[in-house]
Amino acid sequence: MAFEGLSEKLSAAFKRLKQKGKLDEKDVKTAMREVRLALLEADVNYKVTKQFVSAVTERAVGAAVFESLTPAQQVIKIVHEELINLMGSEVSRLQIPSKGQCVIMMCGLQGSGKTTHSGKLAKLLKGQGHRPLLVACDVYRPAAIKQLQVVGEQAGVPVFEMGQIDPVEIAKKALAHARDYGNDIVILDTAGRLHIDEQLMGELENIKSAVDPSEILLVIDAMTGQDAVNVAQSFNDLLEITGVVLTKLDGDTRGGAALSVKAVTGKPIKFSGTGEKLDDLEPFYPDRMASRILGMGDVLTFIEKAQEQFDEKQQQKMEEKLRQNKFDLQDMLEQLEQINKMGSMQQIMGMMPGGMGAQMKDADIDERQIDRTRAIILSMTPQERAKPKLINPARKRRIAAGSGTKVEDVNRLLKQFEQMSKLIRQFTRPGKRRRRFMPF
Ligand code: GDP
Repeated sequence: MAFEGLSEKLSAAFKRLKQKGKLDEKDVKTAMREVRLALLEADVNYKVTKQFVSAVTERAVGAAVFESLTPAQQVIKIVHEELINLMGSEVSRLQIPSKGQCVIMMCGLQGSGKTTHSGKLAKLLKGQGHRPLLVACDVYRPAAIKQLQVVGEQAGVPVFEMGQIDPVEIAKKALAHARDYGNDIVILDTAGRLHIDEQLMGELENIKSAVDPSEILLVIDAMTGQDAVNVAQSFNDLLEITGVVLTKLDGDTRGGAALSVKAVTGKPIKFSGTGEKLDDLEPFYPDRMASRILGMGDVLTFIEKAQEQFDEKQQQKMEEKLRQNKFDLQDMLEQLEQINKMGSMQQIMGMMPGGMGAQMKDADIDERQIDRTRAIILSMTPQERAKPKLINPARKRRIAAGSGTKVEDVNRLLKQFEQMSKLIRQFTRPGKRRRRFMPF
């Protein structure tokens, strides 16, 4: 899986930080050394890494992190925000002029996924109501024209080709053709080479000046790490690209290209390719990518919401229970009601960290489920709520009948309770300092 090594190393660094409870500057510096190594090992550009680490350290040391109730969480929050900044802070959309023709020039090295992504983009735009035209400007390999035709057919998008003549001519003719046939977007699949060479760059420059593209998208292969970033820099110097399509994020890329390319070229990643099929194209969301790298879903929004919603007294009471390992079904009921106040269950699940979200998904919670859960717990006696182990098959039948549910529902709830208790123990491992944040 992509970013696995990086995610693991970062979470190990943060785990140590969390275990400390109260933090001082030295703790942050130690953690940042680990972050630095993790980034370098993930093939993130050296300069980018250095800037990143110093930005985080400065903010962490400067902010009132050490005074906060959850210092480790605050450091993670800063790292998260800086990762987002690194990748471009906002989603960058395609610039499609509202009037006239839009030309998208796809360029990149051979094998980066240019033809595939020309097709993916065509399909996406077609789905949005546009009428794209794919144009075969890679005239050096007859197989490339054929490949684009295959992709075009799969995408249900016409392909314009003129065989192996001058690609500048083809591009110009394609624009005229598109005008005649009502194609509002023209996607040029240009030639690639195994390495950057002058002739290729000259040709791309000529195409650019002949057709004045709205977008020049550089397709780079995430698996090639820093090489991809070097390629991006050269293309950008010569062609002034408008954005990047980062492909093969479904492979076990270490993360270097995703994290460095924006910082090095100043150009945003607009799309990511996540597979060989034409539907495997996603807009690139820096925030989601950052969360994914940190293996945390959108846990920060969740923390913020939780901090807004949980009242202090209730929290202290829960903490006490947790410390004494006395979290029971009555508490679960109360916590579910608190969570309910924070938003829909689906929204909350979306914010859960990867592993946790997945576990909770297994627990199959949805809105109705919360009502059912409440009904089931309310049908239990106080003793049963306090000691779920008491609930034998006969009691289960009684509870199910009382709450208008099935024995399986009761079983599911008990399983869920068990998972929840396990997670809570995991998330509230006591540090030296009393921890106030509780995920539930
Ligand atoms: P081009 O030479 O730049 O036009 O590259 P192609 O579009 O021919 O892609 C090269 C190879 O990479 C093909 O085998 C594609 O199926 C594969 N490929 C392209 N994009 C992706 C992607 O996002 N994920 C994966 N796993 N493979 C991809």
